[in-house]
Amino acid sequence: MNASEVISDLKRRFPGEPEYLQAVEEVLGSIEDVYNEHPEFEKYNLVERLCIPDRVFMFRVSWVDDSGKVRTNMAYRIQHNNAIGPYKGGVRFHSSVNLSILKFLAFEQTFKNSLTTLAMGGAKGGSDFSPRGKSDMEIMRFCQAYISELWRHIGADTDVPAGDIGVGAREVGYMYGMYKKMARENTGTFTGKGIEFGGSLMRPEATGYGNVYFLLNMLETRGIDIKGKRVAISGSGNVATYTAKKLLSLGAKVITMSDSNGTIYVPEGITEEQLDFIFTLKNVYRGRIREFAEEYGCEYLEGKRPWGCPCDIAMPSATQNEIDGDDADTLLANGCFAVSEGANMPSTPEAVHKFIEARILYAPGKAANAGGVSVSGLEMAQNSQKLSWTAEEVDQRLRGIMKEIHNKCLIYGKQDDGYTNYVKGANIAGFMKVARAMMAQGIL
Ligand code: NDP
Repeated sequence: MNASEVISDLKRRFPGEPEYLQAVEEVLGSIEDVYNEHPEFEKYNLVERLCIPDRVFMFRVSWVDDSGKVRTNMAYRIQHNNAIGPYKGGVRFHSSVNLSILKFLAFEQTFKNSLTTLAMGGAKGGSDFSPRGKSDMEIMRFCQAYISELWRHIGADTDVPAGDIGVGAREVGYMYGMYKKMARENTGTFTGKGIEFGGSLMRPEATGYGNVYFLLNMLETRGIDIKGKRVAISGSGNVATYTAKKLLSLGAKVITMSDSNGTIYVPEGITEEQLDFIFTLKNVYRGRIREFAEEYGCEYLEGKRPWGCPCDIAMPSATQNEIDGDDADTLLANGCFAVSEGANMPSTPEAVHKFIEARILYAPGKAANAGGVSVSGLEMAQNSQKLSWTAEEVDQRLRGIMKEIHNKCLIYGKQDDGYTNYVKGANIAGFMKVARAMMAQGIL
């Protein structure tokens, strides 16, 4: 395989899909050498079969808003690869959602799920529907309309959706309810469900906690203690808030959180009481992070991301491409020595290059945020057994999985100078398992 030729060809065939091409380019750049050590991969054209999704569902969703107006949105489900298990990946509701973004997320998910040690393939879905400012009834009607089309294509052993941006416990509940009604079965099918109907303890916490566990593993390689370290977090949703919660319990200082309108900056670190305020603000009142600054009188950086605030560690937990090359320069100039990604592909290729050049600890999302889908996998296991595990048991397994992913990154990502390139490590480890499974199953 010649990675640049493959990319050129994909660019020609899929123009106008920049996020998808960005994700593919990053992975192919890392795996090219290993791939070429296996001529049988090329003979079976594994690379194209791995980059192009198995299938894409694309459809219009119509729903009625509270004023009686009929609204339409575009909706999607990308079933990327099921070589190692049923398709599995979240659903995103955000005005920015398009085919390119969901194809990049489904592609990434395939490698991430491979890293988790569990049997899950890769998928992603969503819609350009924005839940912001919508009533509960509007959200419910939209979720039901989305599932009334999608339900035929998903199932506990076929394709298992979950949450992502704009999709939390409320939306999963509405979607799962409609799915059950249409499919007339009760085997799980969604993860991130409520505890009362098959959800797993620790699933809400899993992505944020898992990212902190991964960070602790990285810090340990350099003998660094997390206590007292200043951590800049972006976002104030599921991943960001549980990352902050775990960090506070370990004595770190969370100095920023944000939303798409701006950033709060608290140099002394937010308190647990203040974090509770953010949980309520975001999950109950569905308010803006600016209201935190009004309540506590801290600095509010309107329209800005957190990366200009001096920190030791950055944990981007909002969205893709939220750290660009200039942000990376600022972080490094301010002494940031670790970046662990809660979001998917939050750093642009230029930023990633700068972090690796600077030899800081840098964990890509597909490794660092894999705790979320890992506990989703554990939710599927509990549903199959018709049992519920304790929070301690799930947390212990989550820690074990994050350690295992870290170990794999060390094995495949160690450079001659001793530096661990976690991007390379995660990509190669994730790729090899999927590649072997695809080879064993023939040309499909
Ligand atoms: P939420 O919807 O709970 O929170 C998203 C947060 O990011 C909000 O604060 C939102 O602000 C902000 N945000 C979203 N889009 C943008 C944007 N374009 N610019 C600036 N800020 C933005 O989502 P999650 O916490 O679940 O997801 C966050 C990230 O983590 C995503 O990249 C997701 O793919 C990834 N992830 C999530 C997992 C999970 O288990 N939930 C698992 C693995 C990865 P606002 O309210 O203003 O929109």
